[in-house]
Amino acid sequence: MADIRNIVILTGAGISAESGLRTFRAEDGLWEDYPVEDVATPEAFRRDPELVQRFYDARRAGVREAQPNPAHEALARLDRAWAQMPGRELLIVTQNIDDLHERAGAARVLHMHGEALSVWCMACDARHRWEGTLLDGPPCPSCGAVALRPDIVWFGEMPYRMDEIFAALARADLFVSIGTSGAVYPAAGFVQQAAAHGARTVELNLERSQGSHWFDESRLGPASVLVPAWVDEVLEAAR
Ligand code: NAD
Repeated sequence: MADIRNIVILTGAGISAESGLRTFRAEDGLWEDYPVEDVATPEAFRRDPELVQRFYDARRAGVREAQPNPAHEALARLDRAWAQMPGRELLIVTQNIDDLHERAGAARVLHMHGEALSVWCMACDARHRWEGTLLDGPPCPSCGAVALRPDIVWFGEMPYRMDEIFAALARADLFVSIGTSGAVYPAAGFVQQAAAHGARTVELNLERSQGSHWFDESRLGPASVLVPAWVDEVLEAAR
């Protein structure tokens, strides 16, 4: 691992699986018998807002109960160590809507698909941290309108902060993808972006993902084991 300065880490549902948050496409049928496209699209919200609010109220409650696992803690350790080294960058881009990276202590986290504990007012555009429910139609704390929706990027909507992500990928020496199936674009294409700019690319996943062949290296196993070991290697090489 020669002279790594800038790291971009992409995380997906697999990093939170061992915290008890089920993944997206797991066979144990996450998302409560709903095809995800039926609850995670703007059309679904227009068609049946109560179903969608109930679905995300349950996600929000699940996130509040979950705890970070050793994989989140290891990335937070890397983030803190990297911040102490001048001239080095690190960004954790997560597709997850949970806040387990932050609760483990990571500071540089970008939620490209939004956050379960945030709501967005469709009347005044304000965003608020939110731990309760939306099914009961609470008013927006800013404007009073009953127009709050989950602050989640649904299928067919534009992920957040893509300019920042592409700029970080262009500067990366090392791109690591953890616990993501490589099925959802644009995140699934980040490995090719990073590689095109010369980054080394590594995948840490329970099984080979759809985009495995794009990576220089794939390590298979649970994130709680693979991620701490990989962080140790990166920090050892940076000494
Ligand atoms: P996904 O379910 O499509 O893929 C998860 C991947 O993680 C799979 O390849 C699986 O093999 C792997 N995995 C499962 N358990 C693992 C473990 N213990 N260690 C390592 N890898 C493991 O999830 P995705 O690729 O993140 O799909 C994208 C969408 O899923 C995102 O839009 C995201 O918002 C949403 N999502 C988020 C959460 C969350 O916030 N915790 C949970 C479910 C889904």
